[in-house]
Amino acid sequence: GSVFAHLVQAPEDAILGYLPTFSFSFSFSFDVTVAYNKDPSPIKLNLGVGAYRTEEGKPLVLNVVRKAEQQLVSDRSRIKEYLPIVGLGEFNKLSAKLILGADSPAIRENRVTTVECLSGTGSLRVGGEFLARHYHQKTIYIPQPTWGNHPKIFTLAGLFTRRPWCCPQGSIVLLHACAHNPTGVDPTLEQWEQIRKLMRSKGLMPFFDSAYQGFASGSLDTDAKPIRMFVADGGECLVAQSYAKNMGLYGERVGALSIVCKAADVAGRVESQLKLVIRPMYSNPPIHGASIVAVILRDRNLFNEWTLELKGMADRIISMRKQLFEALRARGTPGDWTHIIKQIGMFTFTGLNPAQVSYMTKEYHIYMTSDGRISMAGLSSKTVPHLADAIHAVVT
Ligand code: PMP
Repeated sequence: GSVFAHLVQAPEDAILGYLPTFSFSFSFSFDVTVAYNKDPSPIKLNLGVGAYRTEEGKPLVLNVVRKAEQQLVSDRSRIKEYLPIVGLGEFNKLSAKLILGADSPAIRENRVTTVECLSGTGSLRVGGEFLARHYHQKTIYIPQPTWGNHPKIFTLAGLFTRRPWCCPQGSIVLLHACAHNPTGVDPTLEQWEQIRKLMRSKGLMPFFDSAYQGFASGSLDTDAKPIRMFVADGGECLVAQSYAKNMGLYGERVGALSIVCKAADVAGRVESQLKLVIRPMYSNPPIHGASIVAVILRDRNLFNEWTLELKGMADRIISMRKQLFEALRARGTPGDWTHIIKQIGMFTFTGLNPAQVSYMTKEYHIYMTSDGRISMAGLSSKTVPHLADAIHAVVT
């Protein structure tokens, strides 16, 4: 017999523990997609995916990404040697500039160390392991609700995760930089300023998760403002950046972890310790995705083209919000649905409960996570009426 014969099948459909009676109830978007793929219905609609889709429902490769790749393949001098442990140096510098701002004093004063990591997830994990080894507090306070992977990433990194009710002095606090997932509700700049003051006064360590820079407002600088406010006060913080959404580089797994320190010598020592975290984990990061990003960020024309394409994606999502809101209003659907147009980013937190979600999946073949979160990027003008019909039916 196999030495692994005792293994139980890990659940494909992660069913919410407290609601065992519902047959359709997913907490993770991957599980939603598995169920969606199995459904033979021609009207099925997948609103679980956390990836951008075009109006035709297709994945999108940005034009600038195609151009950058062309440039990379036609350069015969390019080789496939290992990158350093910290990744592609130019990519790291440009990533720090993108998130902290080109004129950031922290960058000028060499107080920032940036390492290329495996997209947002890998950046959070490396940052988490670094903090678990070297930071004086081992608890990270995460939002409630938050992205489903956050608690697992930080727990496996060696930290304790808690909801942010009353963080003791010095605790680590995870903050979604913009487009909070799953709620789509972000603090205003005034509220960010209050959060900043409070956190600094209690010596709390901010760890920003920036998975949607440019996707929320359509502007890279606007979406980075909360982080820049924290960096401007001279204090320390961590930032995990992902290029999955804003450059559509999902499967390239390209991201960066920046640690902003108070002094250049500290940043140097921090980097030396980050290498010790990374080396036994995956040795060094992949070369291709980071090279694409570097080509785009270093070239003014490509950079401008990118910002336009990014704005195009953000605008389509905003337009889907308006269309869904109008469709519900036209049907006279009971309830206040203004949150659909007020929320920010890829997702709408509809307020539908797991029973309603399960009904919509069964009767309308509409798939979403059981918390009622729908991906606006998965909608199109053609599918809005079907979704509006389903929501109307389930709330009346
Ligand atoms: N943080 C948040 C809040 C996210 O929504 C995501 C992607 N769904 C990530 C991090 C990480 O994504 P990736 O590893 O693909 O960059």
